[in-house]
Amino acid sequence: MAHTHILGYPRIGARRGLKFALESFWKGELAVEGLQAIAQALRSENWQKQQQAELSFITAGDFSFYDHVLDHSVLFGATPQRFGWRDKVREEKDYFADYFSLARGNAQQPAMEMTKWFDTNYHYIVPELNNDTRFSINAHDYLTQLDEAQRLGSKVKPVLLGPVSLLYLSKTKDNFNKLELLNSLAEQYAHLLRELHQRKIEWVQIDEPIFALDLDEAWLKAFERAYAWLRSNRPKLLLTTYFANVTRYQSVITHLPVDGVHIDAVRAPEQIGPWVNAIPGHWVLSIGVIDGRNVWRNDLDKSLQLLHPWVERLGERLWLAPSCSLLHTPVNLAQEALLDDEIKSCLAFADEKLHELNILAKAINLGVASVAEELAVSRAAIMARANSSRVHSTAVKARIEHLDQFDENRAHPFAIRQAQQQQRLNLPLLPTTTIGSFPQTAEIRTSRARFKKGEISEADYANTMQQHIRYAIEQQENLGLDVLVHGEAERNDMVEYFGEQLAGYAFTEYGWVQSYGSRCVKPPIIFGDVYRPKPMTVDTASYAQSLTAKPVKGMLTGPVTMLQWSFVRDDQPRKTTAMQLALAIRDEVDDLQKAGIAIIQIDEPAFREGLPLQRAQWQSYLDWAVRAFKLSASVASDDTQIHTHMCYSEFNDILPAIAAMDADVITIETSRSQMELLDGFGEFAYPNQIGPGVYDIHSPRVPSIAEMEALMQRATAVIPVERLWINPDCGLKTRGWPETVQALQHMVNTAKNLREGLLVAISN
Ligand code: GLN
Ligand code: ZN
Repeated sequence: MAHTHILGYPRIGARRGLKFALESFWKGELAVEGLQAIAQALRSENWQKQQQAELSFITAGDFSFYDHVLDHSVLFGATPQRFGWRDKVREEKDYFADYFSLARGNAQQPAMEMTKWFDTNYHYIVPELNNDTRFSINAHDYLTQLDEAQRLGSKVKPVLLGPVSLLYLSKTKDNFNKLELLNSLAEQYAHLLRELHQRKIEWVQIDEPIFALDLDEAWLKAFERAYAWLRSNRPKLLLTTYFANVTRYQSVITHLPVDGVHIDAVRAPEQIGPWVNAIPGHWVLSIGVIDGRNVWRNDLDKSLQLLHPWVERLGERLWLAPSCSLLHTPVNLAQEALLDDEIKSCLAFADEKLHELNILAKAINLGVASVAEELAVSRAAIMARANSSRVHSTAVKARIEHLDQFDENRAHPFAIRQAQQQQRLNLPLLPTTTIGSFPQTAEIRTSRARFKKGEISEADYANTMQQHIRYAIEQQENLGLDVLVHGEAERNDMVEYFGEQLAGYAFTEYGWVQSYGSRCVKPPIIFGDVYRPKPMTVDTASYAQSLTAKPVKGMLTGPVTMLQWSFVRDDQPRKTTAMQLALAIRDEVDDLQKAGIAIIQIDEPAFREGLPLQRAQWQSYLDWAVRAFKLSASVASDDTQIHTHMCYSEFNDILPAIAAMDADVITIETSRSQMELLDGFGEFAYPNQIGPGVYDIHSPRVPSIAEMEALMQRATAVIPVERLWINPDCGLKTRGWPETVQALQHMVNTAKNLREGLLVAISN
């Protein structure tokens, strides 16, 4: 008899109910009681879905008003002192205000830091600890939610982020070893588990996702130490791992005083056998066979085959689950009325995945005959996908098979190209430019919405967009920028815009996934071979270029970013999809160049976030990611200048790969670190041109010329001035025009001042 459970469920609701509730609460339009009621309804809906899917447990404690890691800071009394949370006695409405100020900041304090959750696009609030952090338990909310779940009559399995992962993922202000806090933190976990035990909870899921990372001896020892606190007076513990093969930590894990382990059998199916053989006789093994990170229908036959060798041996000790929390998938496919049936039949979102789990359990427990019909439907869908002409294009596959026919290198090395480009472009020292987007005004958004609804014709829409382009070009001419952009008015999103024009992409109406707090993203789905049926940006780029004698950059999203910010195929390696995207972008580069565009920017802001969790796998990722970028760019002739752009990530440990991309110019975000990021580029002696961002685009504040000059002085200390550009950190789409014009004027003046200074210096 196999059991079923999930590691967690999306909190936002099928129609983003939580998002809208939060945002009205923040605006003061919804009272605390209203917010609570909406959250409670969402939780109970999620539990009922799990009951309907006949799961052995319903999972509680996975809900959060903002982020579950933040909730653990609160739960264990570890909110940063600077917020003065601890000793305050407060009413419920103030509790919420205080809670959200941790995540969003308030008049006195900046928000706690936020960072990416492993290799997902979910962001968690980083716990902020220091050497006088004292943990305590603040479990009122957690226990209330548990009570709520227990009232539904199913077995409830609460989830906790484990003590070692919590500590590992936190940051410390003072320079001290955070492992010194381990004992006192583990002690509080022991208290909480005792409380859960008293409440007759049989199982607790304790997540230790850091097993997906490269851990050193000290951290491995920390598990032993922390879990020693959890030996008695507690419910049974299911230690959950995900996102990786964790067999290398088997000797540590199997010695922990827990009662079972969950493994990710989607990312690493090969670890099942080794785990069955390694676990103590009384442990359960929870096998994550349904993909919690992607949107594809499960191949149920394949899953049953994968499980088959172990079913009898494990018996009652076999648990079935999605690979990780379903937090990373959209909620409900059934409501997607606009998606056609063929594509829909390939997909499963969170609700559908619960159903799949149920079928798998029935097939195992009652025999395949009991679910023959469901299995037949699944089999037919899998077959259809494998043979669909919408998924498979012989032309694309042939191109990929003969990738060698495309030279991924430019015709000549950078030095030669640079000379030719300079001859063509005749740019001044320290050329000024922007990253691509200009303010997405209410007007722009309204016309796009109306066009999508069919309220205005394509011609009218194109006309309106041209007006915005003309306006952007005029502004840039007036400012005296050297390299102009068309402003990206026609783009809602840098991936969606291209995806809509590429074959192989599908879009959902409600396929939202939480990114952080109330912010959700709706990644497009790459379901088939990707190619570009016709030019995508040549019209807008040519139109913009026709308005000015200055060079206008053609703006494209790079293959790695397209891949990274989409749901990708699970029926071919990521690398293959990346190469298909690369060729599609390459075709566009070719056409832009033929249309006379002299500078083409291929944005790769997500380049770094594609890095695998384990260092041993970095190089193979970097090899194909760099290759994909180069393939897209190498069709450019020597005198076509290729730019790329990256932002908001740590570049210094991948500098060789960034250099290997061989873009003529890279613009990067650096102002937030006061140009510190550039030091790496300087030390590494980055060979091509660089535009370090001189101002942060996240705030309407207009930085002074003096500030920008100081930053550029720092830049010239590490990079030769002949190879420097001046630009903002990133695109300006979230800004308003007035502050944009002022800031850019300061930027242009900064360049002028510096050029004059340099001329004086040279003539002396
Ligand atoms: N060209 C894009 C823009 O300016 C780049 C955005 C990004 O880096 N995320 O909006
Ligand atoms: Zn950017």
